[in-house]
Amino acid sequence: MANTPYPQSYYAASANAAPVRPSLQDDVETDVCVIGAGYTGLSSALFLLEKGFKVTVLEAAKVGFGASGRNGGQIVNSYSRDIDVIERSVGPKQAQLLGQMAFEGGRIIRERVAKYQIQCDLKDGGVFAAITSKQMGHLESQKRLWERYGHTQLELLDQSRIREVVACDLYQGGMLDMSGGHIHPLNLALGEAAAVESLGGVIYEQSPAVRIERGTNPVIHTPQGKVRAKFVIVAGNAYLGNLVPELAAKSMPCGTQVITTEPLNDELAKSLLPQDYCVEDCNYLLDYYRLSADKRLIFGGGVVYGARDPANIEAIIRPKMLKAFPQLKDVKIDYAWTGNFLLTLSRLPQVGRLGDNIYYSQGCSGHGVTYTHLAGKVLAEALRGQAERFDAFAELPHYPFPGGQLLRTPFTAMGAWYYSLRDKLGF
Ligand SMILES: Cc1cc2nc3c(=O)[nH]c(=O)nc-3n(C[C@H](O)[C@H](O)[C@H](O)COP(=O)(O)OP(=O)(O)OC[C@H]3O[C@@H](n4cnc5c(N)ncnc54)[C@H](O)[C@@H]3O)c2cc1C
Repeated sequence: MANTPYPQSYYAASANAAPVRPSLQDDVETDVCVIGAGYTGLSSALFLLEKGFKVTVLEAAKVGFGASGRNGGQIVNSYSRDIDVIERSVGPKQAQLLGQMAFEGGRIIRERVAKYQIQCDLKDGGVFAAITSKQMGHLESQKRLWERYGHTQLELLDQSRIREVVACDLYQGGMLDMSGGHIHPLNLALGEAAAVESLGGVIYEQSPAVRIERGTNPVIHTPQGKVRAKFVIVAGNAYLGNLVPELAAKSMPCGTQVITTEPLNDELAKSLLPQDYCVEDCNYLLDYYRLSADKRLIFGGGVVYGARDPANIEAIIRPKMLKAFPQLKDVKIDYAWTGNFLLTLSRLPQVGRLGDNIYYSQGCSGHGVTYTHLAGKVLAEALRGQAERFDAFAELPHYPFPGGQLLRTPFTAMGAWYYSLRDKLGF
C-alpha cells in the first residue's frame, strides 16, 4: 500500500515527535467518521469528542499532510471575502451571524493551544500591509467594519509606523491586528491530533476514504478496511479529489508556494521584523511572511490555478522576497514547497449536508487557519442538532466556475491576472 510522506518542508523538518499511526485494516464502528486530518477534520473531531461522541478519523497520508501542515502559519481573522461582501449578498440576520463568527476561529486556536498544551510557537500580532493608497483606504474601512462586529484589537499604521514593525520600503501603511499572529502550522495539527487521541478518538493514517456508501448508516471504505458510522464529516478540502462529486463542481484546487531561508543572525532577524509579527500584503495575489522560532524568514506568495506543482519554486518566490527585502540577497534558501488550498468562486467557504448524515466544510479560499477551527465547532453543533450557525454558512450561495472543469483554470487565471494588474496600477 502507498505510504505517502510529508513534503520536504521546513515544517516537516522541525515537527514535534508524533506516534506512527496505523492504517485501517479492519471493519470498525463509530458515531462520526471524519475524512481528513487537517484543521477542519481535527477541529471537528475535538469538538465532537468533548461532547461525548465516538470519533474515527481517516487520513489519506499523515496528520497535517495537506494545507494545514504546509501553510504560512498566519492566524488571519475573518474570511477570504470580508463581511461587507457578505452583508451585500445575504440578508441582515445571516450577515450578523456570520459577522459575529468572523473572529472566533483565532480564539478557538488559542483556547486549544492553552487547554491541550500544544507546542506550536504561538505569537500574537499580524500586520496587513498596504502597497497603494487605495489599499490603505480599504484597511481603514475594514477597521471600522471589524469594530462594528466587536473586534477592537486593531491599530492603523501610517508609513513611518509600519516601518517600525517591518523593514520593507514597499508599504504606504497598514493595520496591526493583535488577535492575529502566527504558529508552526504542522505542530498545531500534530498537537490537535494528540488531543483527539487523549480524548479517545482514533486516527488512521495512510487510510484514504475511497468510497462512501451512503444511507442511514453510511459505510466509508478504505483500501483495506471499512468504517460504519452514524455521521460522516468530509474534510479533505483541496486534496479530496472526486470522492464526493457534488463538491468538486463548485470549487477549484489552487497551489501556493512557500520558501524558508537559512536561520538569520539575531541582528538581521530583529531588523526585519522587530516585534516578530507576521505580515501579509493587501494585493489580490498576496505575499505573506514571518519569522520562524529559529529565526528563518518563511515567505510565501503567488497562486497556481489548478494546483499544478511548479518545477522551480525558489525561482518563483525568491524574487518576491528580494523585492520586499533586498537585504536578504546573500541569504540561502533551505526549503521550498507547494501546497493546495481550495478556491470557490465567491471565496467564501462551502458548507452543507448531503442527505441526512454527510456533512462538509471546505473551500475557504486562501485564508483558512482560523475559519477551519471555527468550522469544526459549527459542524459539531449541527451534528448535535443546533444548526443555526451551520445554516448561516450552508445558505451562502455557490456557483460553478465559468468554463466548467476544462476551462475553469485558464478563465480564473485570467480573472486573477486582471485583479493583480489593478493592484499594480493602483486602481
Ligand atoms: C501554502 C499554503 C499557505 C497558506 N497560508 C495560510 C496562512 O498563512 N493563513 C491562513 O489563514 N491560511 C493559509 N492557507 C490556507 C489554510 O492552510 C487552509 O485553508 C487550511 O489549512 C485548510 O484546512 P483543511 O483541514 O480544510 O484542509 P487540509 O489541511 O488540506 O486537510 C485535508 C486533509 O484531508 C486529507 N484527505 C483528502 N482526501 C482524503 C480522503 N479521501 N481520505 C482521507 N483523507 C483525505 C488530506 O490528505 C489532508 O491531510 C494556506 C494554504 C497553503 C496551501
